Amino acid sequence: MATRIDGKAFAAQLREKVAESVNRLKEAHGLVPGLAVVLVGEDPASQVYVRNKGKQTLEVGMNSYEHKLADTTGQAELLELINQLNHDAKVHGILVQLPLPNQIDSHAVINAIDPNKDVDGFHLVNVGRLATGAPGLVPCTPLGCMMLLKDQIGDLSGKSAVVVGRSNIVGKPMGALLLAENCTVTTAHSRTADLPGVCRDADILVAAVGRAEMIPGDWVKPGAVVIDVGINRVAGDAGKTRLVGDVDYPSAQAVAGAITPVPGGVGPMTIACLLRNTVQAACAANAIAFDLD
Ligand code: NDP
Repeated sequence: MATRIDGKAFAAQLREKVAESVNRLKEAHGLVPGLAVVLVGEDPASQVYVRNKGKQTLEVGMNSYEHKLADTTGQAELLELINQLNHDAKVHGILVQLPLPNQIDSHAVINAIDPNKDVDGFHLVNVGRLATGAPGLVPCTPLGCMMLLKDQIGDLSGKSAVVVGRSNIVGKPMGALLLAENCTVTTAHSRTADLPGVCRDADILVAAVGRAEMIPGDWVKPGAVVIDVGINRVAGDAGKTRLVGDVDYPSAQAVAGAITPVPGGVGPMTIACLLRNTVQAACAANAIAFDLD
């Protein structure tokens, strides 16, 4: 039976460390890291995420600046707000909640953010930094996955890692981070031939697909460490819904060495890493050594 990787507890510890670091920055430098979150429109899931981000930002002692814009907002207006935030010395991190309404070009908006304030790590400059091994801001969900993996395994060097999914937000940066830790990385996707066979080779299997319980236990190599990024809402008992991952947890946990549950695995790590990235950005902007790694 696999070890259950408790991302919720790990994230709580990380938030505690962030709060301690924020405290040190205040005492030693009079610096309060600030995170600006921009929400355009009324998407219910986005509203929940933004509320949680704001709440957790304040809980670790940082400043939170929320900008809520109507879903009719035009691109020029949003770019003007980004420009203001780029020049606001109190703001060290800027996050634009995705998805954006159709009239707005998400790429243009993300690439208008000052790369040194791009705490989501989606700006082309940060993508390039990650790809070339230069220091920069790393996307939060893959960063959280790496923290859980290193905590579980220690040295990842030489491991065979398979990432299922190649999105810019999760799959591709995850592959880059695993490569940087000297794994032999395979990125699988919807066109991959023999996906079960590819997965069965993995010492580390990361699922970031968005298909409920798609990966069964017999695709998992015995003893593998399985990181399930997927968040899928499915019908539950008595007309309710419940969350499941991309991995079929009951069958996979019988084979794996360790596995993240959904919920309570990768999910809580994402916001904790966002807070960590904001401290990183605040330190870099003020030429202060970052003490959270
Ligand atoms: P995307 O939809 O952007 O990407 C999904 C990827 O899965 C694509 O690369 C796609 O391949 C691949 N894929 C789809 N179907 C198959 C298949 N049958 N076999 C193999 N590969 C397949 O999703 P995201 O990366 O944004 O998110 C993935 C999951 O992670 C979602 O459930 C999302 O909710 C969750 N998520 C969780 C977060 C967290 O905080 N825990 C944060 C972000 C996402 P192709 O490129 O060929 O189409």
